[in-house]
Amino acid sequence: MIDDMLRTPSAVRDAERYTAHNYHPLPVVISSAEGSWLIDVDGRRYLDCLAGYSALNFGHRHPELIRAAHQQLDRLTLTSRAFIHDQFADFCRELAALCGKELVLPMNTGAEAVETGIKVARKWGYQVKGVAPGQATIVVADGNFHGRTTTIVSFSTDADARDDFGPYTPGFTVVPYGDLAALEAAIDGNTVAVLLEPIQGEQGVVLPPEGYLPGVRRVCTERNVLFVADEIQSGLGRTGRTFACDHEGVVPDMYLLGKALGGGIVPVSAVAADADVLGVLRPGQHGSTFGGNPLACAVGTEVVRLLATGEFQRRSAELGERLRAGLEGLLGKGLVAVRVRGLWAGVDIDPTLMTGRQACERLMERGVLAKDTHGSTIRLAPPLVITADEIDHAVAQLAAVLAG
Ligand SMILES: *Cc1c(COP(=O)(O)O)cnc(C)c1O
Repeated sequence: MIDDMLRTPSAVRDAERYTAHNYHPLPVVISSAEGSWLIDVDGRRYLDCLAGYSALNFGHRHPELIRAAHQQLDRLTLTSRAFIHDQFADFCRELAALCGKELVLPMNTGAEAVETGIKVARKWGYQVKGVAPGQATIVVADGNFHGRTTTIVSFSTDADARDDFGPYTPGFTVVPYGDLAALEAAIDGNTVAVLLEPIQGEQGVVLPPEGYLPGVRRVCTERNVLFVADEIQSGLGRTGRTFACDHEGVVPDMYLLGKALGGGIVPVSAVAADADVLGVLRPGQHGSTFGGNPLACAVGTEVVRLLATGEFQRRSAELGERLRAGLEGLLGKGLVAVRVRGLWAGVDIDPTLMTGRQACERLMERGVLAKDTHGSTIRLAPPLVITADEIDHAVAQLAAVLAG
């Protein structure tokens, strides 16, 4: 087909023309999808190796999730929390059970879950721990990604995310990720929480050293500080367990969840914690018009039920080993480092060969969609419904790209 018969170029142009340029998308225009596969406006097929930054852990249009959404669309979609609806209790109870926590507070986006976690930790600090008014601090890690609100970017160490968005919200102390001694030294009597990603996704799927998360748990308990785990990207099956913290037997005081919780259909996020923590919120102190709406709860409940079977965690663990073996086979053949946990891989390309962006463009030409992050790193996070053959296909395409 000659180029001017393709719909993609003009669709790319129009998309660029009428929006703020806060993303730099690959020049591909998707029109439909199923499972692990995407189809563009010109009918070309792509294997999805990003899965909506893990919002699509169950694949595109998982039949159970679509059925739950359709059924709910035909009954009730929104009440606001001024009234109670009949999907709310099931969602909160089943999600709390999945997390092993007593209470759940549903919101919409991941950033809202993080903001909720920060507010709850501060209120807990003043009301339960007895921190003097206005003095609460939260310890965070460098290289973090917790979202895009003004408070959250205040403690980002990424210049793009932070610069020119001040004045910044005070009350955060940044320490090196993975350094337990530095974290412990940063805690004082005003510290109310440690907020961490158990694996840093945006940073390039960076795993902390073994023993770090159990160490953080121990220090938080000893110093009466809440351990808040941002599992928005790492949680809900991505790493081969329900939560990334599970790999080291660590239970945080608060889970922050999002992305896959909405099944790739609607934004659903949540904070899960016990009553001694989440119970500090009283009526009027926090909320969201759409948070915990009937459609979100119907889809979210089905997500929790899919996870409760353990099937997706199992697939992620087993197929993740296949992905690891394939990627490690490319070390020295264009890859300089590979980090894998379940179906989640950070892959460092030899920077003298090409940038991560170039690698993703060439993968796109070969029918595989992935996303670069930070220079020469690309991240692979396919839907957990991907098959062994499809993983081999993705690895083969990466091998071909690296071979030039
Ligand atoms: C994506 C993400 C967020 C923010 O979620 P949004 O839904 O984009 O607001 C927060 N924390 C982590 C670890 C994430 O990956």
